[in-house]
Amino acid sequence: MDKTSLTDTRARHLKYLRISVTDRCNLRCSYCMPRDLIPKLTHADILTYEEILRVVRIGIRLGITKVRVTGGEPLIRKGIFDFLKALGALEGLQDVSLTTNGVTLEKHLDQIQAAGIRRLNISLDTLDRARFKRITGRDSFDQVWRGLQRAYAMDFKPLKINVVALPGLNEDELEKMAALTFEYPFHVRFIEHMPIGKNNVATTGRLLTPEIKRRIETLGVLVPVQPGLTDGPAERFQIEGARGEVGFISALSRHFCENCNRLRLTAGGQLRPCLLSDRQVDLKTDLRNQVSDDQVAERIMAAVRIKQARHGLTDEIPKKVCGQMSSIGG
Ligand code: SAM
Ligand code: SF4
Repeated sequence: MDKTSLTDTRARHLKYLRISVTDRCNLRCSYCMPRDLIPKLTHADILTYEEILRVVRIGIRLGITKVRVTGGEPLIRKGIFDFLKALGALEGLQDVSLTTNGVTLEKHLDQIQAAGIRRLNISLDTLDRARFKRITGRDSFDQVWRGLQRAYAMDFKPLKINVVALPGLNEDELEKMAALTFEYPFHVRFIEHMPIGKNNVATTGRLLTPEIKRRIETLGVLVPVQPGLTDGPAERFQIEGARGEVGFISALSRHFCENCNRLRLTAGGQLRPCLLSDRQVDLKTDLRNQVSDDQVAERIMAAVRIKQARHGLTDEIPKKVCGQMSSIGG
């Protein structure tokens, strides 16, 4: 067992762990969960912070170097800032980042900074207040925008803005979102809507990267940006003359499975080797049965062994993943 233990038979080295710390959320984005969804997990069902930290420590021994904390909405779980601090203090992690909907970001930025987090992803699908309410179920655009501005003023970087491209909901705003990169050094990333869990967005008539890119190109030439060593699946570009970047995450139209380096720990303690498959390994039962670290490591490696070559979803096959995005973490 060593730092290469999470390399699968296709030579993919899974060194990036995404952790959903809660399946609860203060928004109800129509593309993520239905308005009436009551999160299923009770307090006892979700992993404790100690359990998550143990998984990460064991993961580091096996080669994990990068962690992202997500949810549900991570900033609404009690004790999150102490957890982030503990995570940041673990030796062997090169990168700890956070994905948030930004609703409570403004008032928590000092604690996030004090915990050592520099990299933030903020989800924002529109720049229009009324539309924000329509998409998320809550009139919180102003709070999110203030949080984003304060994070910028506090020099968090890179500041990534996640935009899910939604036909009929925000498709007429994609250029406007991309144009933010002329004014700010933000990384605006357009994400294809994925058929995951119960949500209120039709799985037909998707807006896919080739069309999104075509629209963004009306703003200027897209100059490719060299990917960094720990980069994810986004194809990165700079619009000529812009300060920031645009990125495209094309899970459906351009499979990036051959380069996937991710594992996902769900809020309920399941380890999933692929976002777009319901295959998973139960870590929670082991963690609660006082098994040894080596046995937990063996279970983590079992998740690596069941990672398939590529996911089976395309823009044409109307398959669906049953797990809920808010529990898996995105
Ligand atoms: N609540 C936080 C947030 O919204 O940033 C973190 C969790 S959320 C599940 C993580 C990311 O997944 C967000 O950027 C969200 O837009 C994205 N997302 C949610 N449902 C999606 C779907 N069905 N397809 C594509 N992206 C989705
Ligand atoms: Fe909540 Fe994030 Fe899902 Fe929106 S995308 S409902 S903010 S978990």
